[in-house]
Amino acid sequence: MKKIIYMDHAATTYTKPEVVKEMMPYFTEYYGNPSSIYSFSRESKKAIDIARERVAGAINADASEIYFTGGGSEADNWAIKGIAFAHKDKGNHIITTSIEHHAVLHACEFLKKQGFEITYLPVDDNGMVRLEDLKNAITDKTILVTIMFANNEIGTIQPIKEIGKLCRERNIIFHTDAVQAVGHIPVDVKEMNIDLLSMAAHKFYGPKGVGALYIRKGIKIDNLIHGGAQERNRRAGTENISGIVGLGKAIDMAVKNMDANSKRISKLRDKLIDGLLKIPHTILNGAIGENRLPGNVNVCFRFIEGESILLLLDMNGICASSGSACTSGSLDPSHVLLAIGLPHEIAHGSLRLTLGDETTEDEVDYVLEVVPKIVQRLRDMSPLWDDYLKKGE
Ligand SMILES: *Cc1c(COP(=O)(O)O)cnc(C)c1O
Repeated sequence: MKKIIYMDHAATTYTKPEVVKEMMPYFTEYYGNPSSIYSFSRESKKAIDIARERVAGAINADASEIYFTGGGSEADNWAIKGIAFAHKDKGNHIITTSIEHHAVLHACEFLKKQGFEITYLPVDDNGMVRLEDLKNAITDKTILVTIMFANNEIGTIQPIKEIGKLCRERNIIFHTDAVQAVGHIPVDVKEMNIDLLSMAAHKFYGPKGVGALYIRKGIKIDNLIHGGAQERNRRAGTENISGIVGLGKAIDMAVKNMDANSKRISKLRDKLIDGLLKIPHTILNGAIGENRLPGNVNVCFRFIEGESILLLLDMNGICASSGSACTSGSLDPSHVLLAIGLPHEIAHGSLRLTLGDETTEDEVDYVLEVVPKIVQRLRDMSPLWDDYLKKGE
């Protein structure tokens, strides 16, 4: 395979070799079903216990509050549907935001068809939820607030601690989709008053198809997956032992190296942002500084299409994204960019570059060399650019 420059870490990451190494024995050697009686299966059971401790430690939870799932989407679906159905006699109102991942938005749409009412909070032009809006949206029918920790497209980090405090005071259950946050920025479920939290291993150098839901002790929730008695009767299905082991190792490594990694990556991020903003008619999407994920860059180039930028980047060996992975293939601009107030024609020209542990400064320099040429080339072909040159604004 020819060398690629991978700048799409918000879509997924590679699995670190140290993680794969810890996973391997659970395919070939210790493959026993943890539910079995014989002592051979004890090795698999022990491995799951260790992973559970590691995941709990990373977010300041108790191991008994961690439930393994088949990824971030399942954790989100479980949290939202499980709370909605378990508390429907108390109320039918759910509050979320207009910039959530589709795993949350589509779960809410499903519930709407079942008779629940959904409020979508707006965000400001940096993508931040306003506490005032949340306060005003709460009614005596509100049973759940679900607000993402950090946005996967524009990297904005929400005031989770303040949101958690408000929900706790009002006695409303608070779920956060922390799939982009865990392993990258500090997460503390106690300090932040979080009741439920979703994570996915493949967003922090673990394997795909495995995640976890934190459920605070005492929170009543219905099951999503029915069947056997696994995960203390709450999530049926034979455990993905090697995946769970990989999740545990990946989170452990991510937390141990978090400070150094985030410092290094945010420096590269800022260099990339500064360089891209030198291109005329370019806008940065999302917050700046500490309210932005360390690895996230999202810009719009006016007068051109994000999809064409991606094709030309690909020809130069650069993997990037425009909007979210889930919307590519459709012609609608990203719901997140529309929510921060961008008009359709500008939102169409978006480019997301997300950096990771293995990103080098040389790669950033190369991207900064390639992107301006691509933008110019596309503008030279763009009727919108032509109009602009003829008429001005
Ligand atoms: C990737 C992602 C998900 C979905 O996780 P999967 O493991 O792919 O199911 C959910 N929410 C956010 C914010 C994400 O970035």
